Amino acid sequence: MMGVVDTFVKGRDDVKLTIALSKGRILEETLPLLSSAGITLLEPVKSSRKLILPTNLADVQVLILRAQDVPTFVEQGAADVGVTGKDVLMEHGGRFLYEVLDLGIAACKLMVAEPINYQAHSRNLRIATKYVDITNRYFAEKGAQVDIIKLYGSMELAPLVDLADKIVDVVDTGNTLRANGLQPTELIMKVTSRLIVNKAAMKIKHQAVNDLIQGLSHAMRSNVN
Ligand code: AMP
Repeated sequence: MMGVVDTFVKGRDDVKLTIALSKGRILEETLPLLSSAGITLLEPVKSSRKLILPTNLADVQVLILRAQDVPTFVEQGAADVGVTGKDVLMEHGGRFLYEVLDLGIAACKLMVAEPINYQAHSRNLRIATKYVDITNRYFAEKGAQVDIIKLYGSMELAPLVDLADKIVDVVDTGNTLRANGLQPTELIMKVTSRLIVNKAAMKIKHQAVNDLIQGLSHAMRSNVN
């Protein structure tokens, strides 16, 4: 079987593969998988300020983005493939890209959380979140009227200063919630990172994209065993 390395080493100049990743947990957990698939960064990402990083393969480059921007770059073809959380994909909509692989990394849960001493009331619930669409859909399905307060970070603060009654956010260990006197109450969805592919790249760069999918699948299986 021809691996992703072979595809690029064999000098297909027309096939430049651009991979979009986001800094933080996804990047940290994706790099070992990429490395097993034969792709390594040429410089340490932590100390670099570059946003386009070259790799050991001349035809493969990595873009460092904000997580929420990864689907946009891939959908528009600014990147051929990307890795992003299922939460981000659901919120974005992701209608114009393929979700091809559950990488099983950066696992967490999207949850509703409330203050430990929360007192129910009859007004509309005020929910602080950056997941406006997912939250709207979730509460609409339950038949609950809610007012959404869009925030970009530190959601846990909102109930503490009476900006919101509850929050919707991703939870891993639950330590951040506990440290702020909150508790998770409802699971909206389990989240892991997904490999996404631009629809045109899937056709035009089929060999390179397919080799990457195979390489990452193989790396995941090796991690499990
Ligand atoms: P924890 O205290 O372990 O529950 O982590 C919660 C904090 O980490 C929240 O502020 C989240 O925004 C962030 N977080 C946890 N897991 C992830 C993930 N897989 N991707 C992005 N952010 C995460």
